[in-house]
Amino acid sequence: MERETILANLGHIHRRIERACRQAGRSSQNVRLLLATKTVPAEKIQIALEAGETLIGENKAQEAQGKFETLREAGAEWHFIGHLQTNKVKDVLKFATLVQSVDRMELVEKLDQRLQFEGRSLDILVQVNTSYEESKFGIAPEKALAFVREVARYDTLRIKGLMTIGLLSSEGDQVRKGFRLLSSLREQIALKGIPGVEMRELSMGMSADLEMAVAEGATMVRVGTAIFGPRRYPDSYYWNEQAVVK
Ligand SMILES: *Cc1c(COP(=O)(O)O)cnc(C)c1O
Repeated sequence: MERETILANLGHIHRRIERACRQAGRSSQNVRLLLATKTVPAEKIQIALEAGETLIGENKAQEAQGKFETLREAGAEWHFIGHLQTNKVKDVLKFATLVQSVDRMELVEKLDQRLQFEGRSLDILVQVNTSYEESKFGIAPEKALAFVREVARYDTLRIKGLMTIGLLSSEGDQVRKGFRLLSSLREQIALKGIPGVEMRELSMGMSADLEMAVAEGATMVRVGTAIFGPRRYPDSYYWNEQAVVK
């Protein structure tokens, strides 16, 4: 894809975010754009970084590491947003300063072990499966509070908020319900005042549904296709280990 197209797409996304913020009576300063860069080569990401973008989200440890090395100089912030297998924790910690997809104790234990070994801590978001789709990862909404309480006991992990992948549906009402659920979970959890837990971030909204996410309080929208064009692999490849790429 041409440089001009990527720049035009970026401009369009920022205008969409600004319009959605205006309609929701929010400041666009409070909504960060995360570039969802799975399958996107480093040269294209570079174009977005030169245009002033600062936040990158990757789904696969191996793919991300190579790009991270290439783009290191640009000084962007790298998040991990994919399903994190425990045997990839070490690799992910080489580039990610925040993992958005923490969703089970097995992963929490592995992160903690590795972080203790490295003598450092990590910012995380708890991924919640607000759409109840089996294909999606994330903790069930009813279990989110108990999970946060448990994770809060680990000194190496600093919970900064919640993340969800919206329902992939053309029915706006249904999609929006999921975002509203995440937003209300954040409020409920924040009210508990759990030591060490911040409920600052709500990472939700993608190319197709970012307006609804902003309306429901997103502080971070994760956009890929609308900036870099369509991907070759279906999203299920990134969200479900069992998914087969045909
Ligand atoms: C791919 C991906 C996105 C971006 O999706 P688009 O529809 O391409 O904007 C957002 N979040 C996660 C977790 C993703 O894997």
